[in-house]
Amino acid sequence: MSIWQKLFGRKSGTESPEPLDPRFRWIKDTIWGKRWDEIPFEDCISRLLLILRDDPKCKPALEWAAMFAHGNIKRLGFEVIRNPLLDPIFAQCDECGDCWIPDPTAKAVAMNIVLNPIGVGCDKCGRVLCRRCYEQLTVTCSRCRRDMESVIHANGRKRPARRYYGN
Ligand SMILES: [Zn+2]
Ligand SMILES: [Zn+2]
Repeated sequence: MSIWQKLFGRKSGTESPEPLDPRFRWIKDTIWGKRWDEIPFEDCISRLLLILRDDPKCKPALEWAAMFAHGNIKRLGFEVIRNPLLDPIFAQCDECGDCWIPDPTAKAVAMNIVLNPIGVGCDKCGRVLCRRCYEQLTVTCSRCRRDMESVIHANGRKRPARRYYGN
C-alpha cells in the first residue's frame, strides 16, 4: 500500500485528512511518489507543528503527525517529541507516565485484538496502562473491574514522560 493510499484512501471519506487544504500542500508535494522509508518525517512533522501552532486542534494535522511519528519515535529529535502541540497524539500510562503513539491504522479495523499490546485502556473510565505496568499489575481495570483492551485512541500526554516506547 502506498503512502498516498494509506493517508487518503480510507473508505469513509468524511474522516480523511483534507487533501485539498492548502496548508498541507507542502507535505503532499513532499511525500508524493515516495516510499514510506524515503519520507523526511521530521521535516513533515515540523511543517505540521507550524499548522498546529496557529490551529492546535487541527484534526488532520494531528492525524498526519501521528501517522508520521508512529514507528519513528527513535528517529525524531526530542524537541519535536516533547513539543506540547503534539500532546494529543500520545497515549500515556496513568501509572508511570511512559508514552507511546497508538497505531493510527488500528482505528480502521473493527476488531481490536492485539496480542501483547504496547498499552491497554479501559473503555469505561479511560484508565490507561503501558505494557510494563499491566504486566506487573493486571489488565483488569482497578476501578471498573473489567478487562482493558489495546489502546486505539490516544488519551493525550498530560505530563512530561520519562520514556517513550518507539516501536
Ligand atoms: Zn506504565
Ligand atoms: Zn475502568
